[in-house]
Amino acid sequence: MRNGIVYSIVVPLYNEELVIDESYKRLKKVMDSTKENYEIIFVNDGSRDKTREKAEIICRNDERIKLINFSRNFGHQAAITAGMDLAYGDAVVVIDADLQDPPEVILKMIEKWKEGYEVVYGKRVKREGETFFKKVTAKIYYRLLKSMTSVDIPVDTGDFRLIDRKVCDSLVSLPEKNRYVRGLVSWVGYKQTSVEFIRQERFAGDTKYPLKKMIKLAFDGITSLSYKPLVFAGYFGGAAFLIGMILMITVIIRDLIKKTEILNLGLILATNIMMFGFMLGCIGIMGQYIGRIFDESKGRPIYIIDSTINYKRADKRYEISS
Ligand code: UDP
Ligand code: MG
Repeated sequence: MRNGIVYSIVVPLYNEELVIDESYKRLKKVMDSTKENYEIIFVNDGSRDKTREKAEIICRNDERIKLINFSRNFGHQAAITAGMDLAYGDAVVVIDADLQDPPEVILKMIEKWKEGYEVVYGKRVKREGETFFKKVTAKIYYRLLKSMTSVDIPVDTGDFRLIDRKVCDSLVSLPEKNRYVRGLVSWVGYKQTSVEFIRQERFAGDTKYPLKKMIKLAFDGITSLSYKPLVFAGYFGGAAFLIGMILMITVIIRDLIKKTEILNLGLILATNIMMFGFMLGCIGIMGQYIGRIFDESKGRPIYIIDSTINYKRADKRYEISS
């Protein structure tokens, strides 16, 4: 136990001025009921609204609440990573700020942790207040990802989970830049179990995950855990080559025997465009991997901290400025 803290609750925040107060209230109520020592780590991911000011007020009134301010928006996964990097607890819980993940479920996670599980992830049995598009794409994506990797990734789970100190230390030691945290948690292993919950409607405000960020996260998940898309391009290329060969032989034989045309220009053009599109698609997939290799090679940090509040002076690494 570091600094006597049993639980660290990591809450990423991006433009969450409408939810932060309620989020703090609900989390505090739940965590107080454990009668054990805890800290709540708000990670302000470069918000442009009043999130920072509101978080600072909370921190000034309650020293168990810590704040990490990023120098700009680095993204949800970077925010979670920072929270884990700077967490003291024996168990670390990651939860969204918008109360879609009910804080009360943390108590069930703690029960499982006390039974000896080192990772307790929240499994969404139902999602309320989310668009049909999001529900369907998420369902397909999680199954696709699972089929692509040998790592056992539970379907229908987000980043809402409790991890033991051991797991947290393992994750902190991974230097990967474009992080897909929920995948990495599965990758590190340990004794894992789930608790089921109904994902609620957002308490207030709009989603901070526009389609662009969702697609980036989806690619991070696939590229960090699987190279099957690259292999698939090879298989498809082989199949196309075989079909082409068969077609060529058929055309030659037909030409020799009957002298009739079996392929018209339109069809040739269509197949050419299709193949050209497919090849560009494959280059795009390679680009997804190469871009990430480029990111790794630059060796830049995952996030930059502008300032922190309520980290102890003695712990120089964490006390950047208040
Ligand atoms: N978030 C963040 N940085 C971002 C986008 C989101 O820290 O660039 C936080 C956000 O404040 C919330 C969590 O990540 O606490 C999940 O985001 P959101 O609820 O908007 O995603 P959704 O539930 O709609 O997928
Ligand atoms: Mg949400």
